[in-house]
Amino acid sequence: MNPSSGLRPPCRHRPVCPSPDVADREAARIVAAHPEQGWNLLCNGVVVFDDTGELLPDGRIIAPHRPTDVRPGTGSNIEQFRAICGWRDF
Ligand SMILES: [Zn+2]
Repeated sequence: MNPSSGLRPPCRHRPVCPSPDVADREAARIVAAHPEQGWNLLCNGVVVFDDTGELLPDGRIIAPHRPTDVRPGTGSNIEQFRAICGWRDF
């Protein structure tokens, strides 16, 4: 077993949620919604932010891909998330 994948419970949805490594990762079910903080945790471990930015379980950041309401250079929700949750893996 890969120890880095043991941090979250296995997917029990049917059909099984997409893995965080595929382009369809956002289709996974939401397992923890935090609208007041602007992010949702998906079943596959991906954190999706209101600005469509994503934080993958391995620490990679996907830049927001819906540019309509986000200006480049402004603070990102990811920084807020790191401050709130003490994320320090990257
Ligand atoms: Zn699932």
